[in-house]
Amino acid sequence: MMPGDGRVRIRSFTLGPVQANGYVIVHEESRTAVIIDAPHDPEPMLEAVEGYRLAAILLTHAHFDHIAGLELLKRETGAPAWIHANEQDWLGDPTRNLSVLVEPVVAPPADRLLQGGERLEFGGLSFEVRFAPGHSPGHVVYVIPGAVFAGDTLFAGSIGRTDLPGADHATLIASIRRQLLTLPAETAVYPGHGPATTVGEEAAHNPFLR
Ligand SMILES: [Zn+2]
Ligand SMILES: [Zn+2]
Repeated sequence: MMPGDGRVRIRSFTLGPVQANGYVIVHEESRTAVIIDAPHDPEPMLEAVEGYRLAAILLTHAHFDHIAGLELLKRETGAPAWIHANEQDWLGDPTRNLSVLVEPVVAPPADRLLQGGERLEFGGLSFEVRFAPGHSPGHVVYVIPGAVFAGDTLFAGSIGRTDLPGADHATLIASIRRQLLTLPAETAVYPGHGPATTVGEEAAHNPFLR
């Protein structure tokens, strides 16, 4: 199931006031789609899953910029949302999801809770869930062969903020080393903000990991 194997396609969407990335992964043979994160104004993501069965909306964490589109995505598709148990209460709480600082976001509750370590299979798409706290206490990343959806852990040349409630810098660095840098160097990193990169590139040059 490599991203380039012809059956799996990954599309990225940069949306909303803080330009968060949402991803649509589709399996062409089974006509199955999975969404990673739900930024504001996700209509283009809805268009991208037309003609596919949307099997799941997988959330990396519950900061508002990654969940603001969840209500619309769920209403239009009926797909179940998954999140780590540590942040289930953040979805509908503008103080905890930090949207109180801007425009309050009250997202619907999740349908399934994660602990980390799960393997999720949806119509030929297989995701390994890895627990990666530090930016937030219930952050997970989702690994498919050849790629990782990293949320706000690791960015091209940077890392997630740790000046937020529930964040911890040393925990984030440990999570990146254990859960991301252990992947093959050629693994594509699809982050929650900014351009894609690779594990090898960040291991060699990311100034926060020196
Ligand atoms: Zn975040
Ligand atoms: Zn973010």
